[in-house]
Amino acid sequence: MEHVYLDHSATTPVDAEVLAAMMRFFANVFGNPSSVHRFGREAREAVEEAREKVACLLGADPGEIVFTGGGTEADNLAILGTAWAKEDGKDEIVTSAVEHPAVMNTCRFLEGRGFRVTYVPVDGEGLVDPEEVRKALTGRTFLVSVMHGNNETGTIAPIAAISALARERGILMHTDAVQTVGKIPFDVDDLAVDLLSVAGHKIHAPKGVGALYIRRGTRIQAAQFGGHQEGERRAGTENVPAIVGLGKACEIALRDMAVHLDRLGALRDRLEQAILTAVEDVRVNTHPVHRLPHILNVSFQGIKGDELVRELDNRGIAISAGAACGAGTVKISHVIEALGVPRDWATGTVRFSLGKANTGEEIDRASAAVVESVDKLRRIAELESTLGGRGCR
Ligand SMILES: *Cc1c(COP(=O)(O)O)cnc(C)c1O
Repeated sequence: MEHVYLDHSATTPVDAEVLAAMMRFFANVFGNPSSVHRFGREAREAVEEAREKVACLLGADPGEIVFTGGGTEADNLAILGTAWAKEDGKDEIVTSAVEHPAVMNTCRFLEGRGFRVTYVPVDGEGLVDPEEVRKALTGRTFLVSVMHGNNETGTIAPIAAISALARERGILMHTDAVQTVGKIPFDVDDLAVDLLSVAGHKIHAPKGVGALYIRRGTRIQAAQFGGHQEGERRAGTENVPAIVGLGKACEIALRDMAVHLDRLGALRDRLEQAILTAVEDVRVNTHPVHRLPHILNVSFQGIKGDELVRELDNRGIAISAGAACGAGTVKISHVIEALGVPRDWATGTVRFSLGKANTGEEIDRASAAVVESVDKLRRIAELESTLGGRGCR
């Protein structure tokens, strides 16, 4: 039987159309976009066409798009780049407790270099309250960075409300939109952000390519040095095939978004309902309204998330865990911890993330496998605790 892939928040397969668009740029059109001769010009044209496509999806000007080596690099450039260019007397960043490590660990690095960072809390469904952001802002804040759609919970943050608070005070606003770009409709003016991160491999383009939207006039420094590429904001010869792939993926996302948005939401609901109906003691860690169409995060009481992942893998279903067990210890993700999920539940956290190729039949197979697996793991856990209680181990 075919395996069912429900881990699209980790990565997505490259679209056939994307792959086809990229192929010419490996061996035939191989020029360096910085070269003045015809080989270079052809490559340059392809890069600029891709830039227009990314800009079109985001509602930006092409000149506001900088290609990067992925989502992590886009987040690093947004945060480090604005930190290096900040005005004197400003040294504070406000972010949230549920950021991707690409944002969180960049902020932690800056903390070690004398910056102050406030990590605003979230509620039990992972929602950031703009009021909490407002309370954290001071006269020294130069940047607010809050993720748009959370890669673990699928909860969507009220970015426009948060941006308005930042803008009123002349503070820059960044959002990591890696999980929302191409999935839900929005543009950079709706969100009123100055910086926005994109990753290719989450939207059916290759790994190792991404983009940072930088609103015209934003104070930012390069965070990597070398040649004059990308308007001096990102040195290094452009990854032309991957950039072409990202452009194509953005074009496709815009073209097909309406269809996938409804269909994925319906499949997600079907999965959620099947699980909630058949399994007891399960908690949904996603906001009921402000949520991405493709992510479902749940905690099953009394089991271990990574054991469920392995059990499901044996049954041909690929998902990911929100907690990982090492030798005798369980490491709960910082996101699930921030939601305040009780420990006995948090250890049993898993994420299902759907993609456009998933079918209703696959969802039904997955939910049946989840129900059986959770049941099995709970029976084992119960038996183990009985046996352990007798002291015969
Ligand atoms: C995947 C992901 C990233 C990192 O992107 P890479 O291209 O893998 O470096 C950043 N933020 C979020 C929300 C992601 O899901």
